[in-house]
Amino acid sequence: MSKIDSNQIFIYNSLNGEKEEFKPVSKPNLGIYVCGPTVYSYVHLGNCRTFLSFDNVVRYFKFLGYNVRYVRNITDAGHLVDDAEQGEDKISKKARLEKLEPMEIVQKYTLDFHDVLKKFNALPPSIEPTATGHIIEQINMVKTILDKGLAYEVNGSVYFDVKKYNEEGGNYGELSGRNIDELMAGSRALDGQSEKKNPQDFALWKKASPEHIMRWDSPWGEGFPGWHLECSAMGTKYLGEQFDIHGGGMDLKFPHHECEIAQGKACNGVSPVNYWMHANMLTLNGQKMSKSTGNTLLPHELFSGDNSLLEKAYSPMVVRFFMLQAHYRSVLDFSSEALNASEKGFNKLMEAKKALSQLEYKSGTVSESEEQKVLDMIAASYANMNDDFNTPKTIAVLFEMVSKINKMVTNNSIDLSEKVFNELRATFNGFIEDVFGLVSENKNDNGVLDGALELLINMRKEAKQNKDYALSDQIRDKLSELGVQLKDSKEGTTYTIK
Ligand code: AMP
Ligand code: ZN
Repeated sequence: MSKIDSNQIFIYNSLNGEKEEFKPVSKPNLGIYVCGPTVYSYVHLGNCRTFLSFDNVVRYFKFLGYNVRYVRNITDAGHLVDDAEQGEDKISKKARLEKLEPMEIVQKYTLDFHDVLKKFNALPPSIEPTATGHIIEQINMVKTILDKGLAYEVNGSVYFDVKKYNEEGGNYGELSGRNIDELMAGSRALDGQSEKKNPQDFALWKKASPEHIMRWDSPWGEGFPGWHLECSAMGTKYLGEQFDIHGGGMDLKFPHHECEIAQGKACNGVSPVNYWMHANMLTLNGQKMSKSTGNTLLPHELFSGDNSLLEKAYSPMVVRFFMLQAHYRSVLDFSSEALNASEKGFNKLMEAKKALSQLEYKSGTVSESEEQKVLDMIAASYANMNDDFNTPKTIAVLFEMVSKINKMVTNNSIDLSEKVFNELRATFNGFIEDVFGLVSENKNDNGVLDGALELLINMRKEAKQNKDYALSDQIRDKLSELGVQLKDSKEGTTYTIK
């Protein structure tokens, strides 16, 4: 049986608040869309948490053998400063403040975003579409919604008619749980300035005021697309009218994703997404980390230690590991203490991984009960990830494996059959590297160096056996000059790199 068939995944679907058995539209293919960053400033650690949560989801599906199409957009237009759809475009505003072209702002912060995610060893998406690159698709979508009578044009802007959509069987509020009637009754009357029929209506297309720099021609005059529209247009274009998974941070549930569902249904007659996944927030001092309040920590501040909140610098892998230790649906509060603990845990894990790679299989007495324990641990690592991607529980199992590995290393004996030993090694390495994206941070410490040093250590051993002490000393001394210290013991020779 393939890994896909032997692992039934259950996903907490925000649409109904329950864990549901995952059934892909077309197995073994899988389509996932994740809302990308609005590139008007440096990504903060909170943004990174959401992107890394979905990196783990994508990685796990790939690990099981799914053929994943992972779309994560770049919002480079349409996201306004004010959530009530007034005010300047976030990117235009920054361009004005920094005296740059909007596309220079986009380029600058997109490069930063890529650089940061690469440091965290996040996989690049299969497609990274931009809002400005899909204006035609967005205009077409507005036209279709207008044709269906579910939007109206006022003064060069087009708004989605939420009331009419619901009257015709739509269910605006289905994702966020907001009751549309209460929303309508409770919201304050529209001020004379607003062109909307009802406050819940949202912009599909906005007329550009004379000072608005980012503008495009449309059947309704010069303007720009509404923020919610880009994800609907690009999701449909690359993943189809109804695709498997849509992700984003919890704060995007309303109005962004609620509006995406309404747009998709209005346009194509089907609910656009089968499983909605929302990652919870990273907090700092108990408050949501957020660009707008300035309550942020930037990744490069963590990597350099250059922030008064930090006692020292932390490496990207330690930070990634810290995030993995919380479930993606739980709030995670940032603290130096928690990071220090993660650093210890991460080092312990990677040391065991290295020790395991150096442990050669030798047949000894096989203990059936030990074998069973190892097989149970292997099964539990999958079972925990199958249960709505429970990374903290999976990590706890990896630490049980660490104890077993360390015991075998200390006793210099393996009480498992070669088959089970190899399975343990493959699972342990696979989960650490492929699923969790954790790699050794010591640049010298990759498999090539390990292999080359092992070769030199063996040559030195042979030289000694042949009483060629000149050669064996030369190997030791030369390595020492290069900063590699050899240590001989009863069990053999090990090395440390200064
Ligand atoms: P933005 O660039 O503001 O559009 O946000 C990019 C992504 O980061 C979205 O999915 C947000 O939901 C997410 N996000 C923003 N703040 C936080 C936070 N404090 N913790 C986790 N995710 C966040
Ligand atoms: Zn989006």
